[in-house]
Amino acid sequence: MLLFFLSATLASAQFYGDPPDDHHPWAVHDNNRPQPPQVTPGKVPGAPPSDAIVLFDGTEASFKANWEHEKKNRKTEWQVIDGAVQCAKGAGTIRSKAQFADCQLHVEWAAPAKVQGSSQGRGNSGVFLMGTTEIQVLDNYNNPTYPDGFAGSVYGVMPPAANPLHAPGKWQSYDIIFRRPIVKDGVVLDEGSFTVLINGVVVQDSTPLEGGGGHRGRSKPRAFPEKGPLKIQDHGNPVRFRNIWYRPLRKRPVEGGTDGKLSVEATTAKRAEIAADLRKDAATKKGKERLLRLLESLCYEVDEEAVSVAEEEGQAFMAGVKAKPEGRKGDVIQVNNAVKYLVKHGRMPSDHEAIGQLKALIKENGWDK
Ligand code: MG
Repeated sequence: MLLFFLSATLASAQFYGDPPDDHHPWAVHDNNRPQPPQVTPGKVPGAPPSDAIVLFDGTEASFKANWEHEKKNRKTEWQVIDGAVQCAKGAGTIRSKAQFADCQLHVEWAAPAKVQGSSQGRGNSGVFLMGTTEIQVLDNYNNPTYPDGFAGSVYGVMPPAANPLHAPGKWQSYDIIFRRPIVKDGVVLDEGSFTVLINGVVVQDSTPLEGGGGHRGRSKPRAFPEKGPLKIQDHGNPVRFRNIWYRPLRKRPVEGGTDGKLSVEATTAKRAEIAADLRKDAATKKGKERLLRLLESLCYEVDEEAVSVAEEEGQAFMAGVKAKPEGRKGDVIQVNNAVKYLVKHGRMPSDHEAIGQLKALIKENGWDK
């Protein structure tokens, strides 16, 4: 009984919110839309969730497996000490072996407890997304510097909105949400952006990349590669890092994602795909379920063949109810609601004969009371 009720509720929900339009392949409140994937969160804030790709877990093995030094001729190397990897002056940049682009990145770092230097010379390092654009790592605890070079700045582009750093020697956490710029045939479709939280405080909020920034020069919007490594800078200070992981982000509509506002072409293609899936599913069903599934497919794409199959199914449904109306009230109301929805949203002509037939059937059997 419960199962029946549940499936009936879901089926009727398909003719519920506004249908797909020129820019949205899904209806509002569309139950055909895939469920968001299940992710088990980390046990404590900052711990990697189940779908994270861990780049450094504090062990020597994890560092060796996931990182490499960029500099060929080096006299020294980054060292794993007490669960953290520490920059060695002159060892040069390290980069992840993994190449990726849009991501949620988590990094924790600590500047040396013993304060040395000032401005850009104190506890300086940096995380470079795709190896090219830097979110600054700097000990700015009581250490002024040019604001677009502060900890949490998109270096050379945008200062952080706040300075929520702990004292040097303490662990700081960065949560970075990065979108690479997308340029097609010389046209900037999306400038790319950074959202950054330092110790849970928002310091960048969908900040446009404007080319990605850099030292002294003003960068301009430009094409980025498809993927790149994460790099961590050797700026000569023994900054430590730990707990580094990332999660790839879903695709934006501009790169083939099907959530959100799409182009007319992408929407039409996706709607055709959803409609085809529904027709395939309809072929595995019978009677009212088959009819509803076919009608549902018309919300996404009005296809001639699907219309003619739906007509046949509709007539068979009607004939079945006429022959034996007992216990069919719910079915008829459901089909009638679907038809009313399709007419309201222009998927069925408002003078279709089924409308009058259903109305008569409901009246004859006293189901309108
Ligand atoms: Mg730096």
